[in-house]
Amino acid sequence: GIVVLGSTNMDLVAYVPRAPARGETVTGRAFRTVPGGKGANQAVAAARAGGEVAMIGAVGTDDFGVRLRAVLEHSGVDTDLLRTAEGPSGTAHIVVDDEGGNAIVVVPGANGSVTSLSHGDEALIATAGLLLLQLELPLSAVTEGAAHARAAGVRTVLTPAPARPLPPELLAATDLLVPNEHEAAALTGRTDPHAAARALLDAVPEVVVTLGAAGCLYAARGAAPLAVPAPRVRAVDTTAAGDTFAGVLAVALAEGRPVPEALARAGTAAALSVRREGASTSMPYRAEIEAALAD
Ligand code: ADP
Repeated sequence: GIVVLGSTNMDLVAYVPRAPARGETVTGRAFRTVPGGKGANQAVAAARAGGEVAMIGAVGTDDFGVRLRAVLEHSGVDTDLLRTAEGPSGTAHIVVDDEGGNAIVVVPGANGSVTSLSHGDEALIATAGLLLLQLELPLSAVTEGAAHARAAGVRTVLTPAPARPLPPELLAATDLLVPNEHEAAALTGRTDPHAAARALLDAVPEVVVTLGAAGCLYAARGAAPLAVPAPRVRAVDTTAAGDTFAGVLAVALAEGRPVPEALARAGTAAALSVRREGASTSMPYRAEIEAALAD
């Protein structure tokens, strides 16, 4: 199965005509709470795509924690090793203005308590088919998880988001790095995705740079790069497109599919998700992905 070592957050989204300046109050037109966090989003995407998925991380002892756990369980994600940490759950406070611009404050909350792994976490990772990681948990735990997977011969797939410098020990334990083009540029200082992918191959054996509506670029040491176009769709909401991509990619790879086929499945699923509103609620199920691939 797939193990996700990652974050859970409740997104608190206010829609406003324009963002307030310091000291100012503006009246919003709508408010939504949306269960998210990159880890939880990738876990839900993978489970919906037919993966057997377990999540390691933490929710808080507040009401959000109850709901975040329930969303995962409802999608069939095993939460036995998802801790409940005393205090608030992770939250993302998002202000979306009429031009679609946003300003975001993330408070890690319970996610911040996951600084190291338990013996149970390590045992689960050691028997996994694949470990999926992002950067919304403390780097100490992410690095420990990746190193543990590597030692057990378990493939590791890392989404380096939010962008930040990566410790060498984490890169050394990463098999496949999946940045978007902004993260790839932040990691390498190269804005051209081909150049960034090449630079990243110095640190990891395989890279997929996601390129939004332009699809993705796959690069591996000693092989010609492969550009995979995205299906053309009318994009309504691209929130969590990258998480859908990563979750479905993980399932396809864990099923033993070759990389080009896995990328096609991930791209098809991500395209399906951007046609609908919402984050995890917009993620497609396996049957839908297969129907779209057969089209
Ligand atoms: P992120 O969501 O992390 O910023 P991207 O914007 O690169 O990442 O999107 C991830 C993947 O989702 C892309 O590689 C692509 O397969 C798919 N995707 C994103 N936006 C679109 C779109 N407008 N049309 C089709 N596919 C899309």
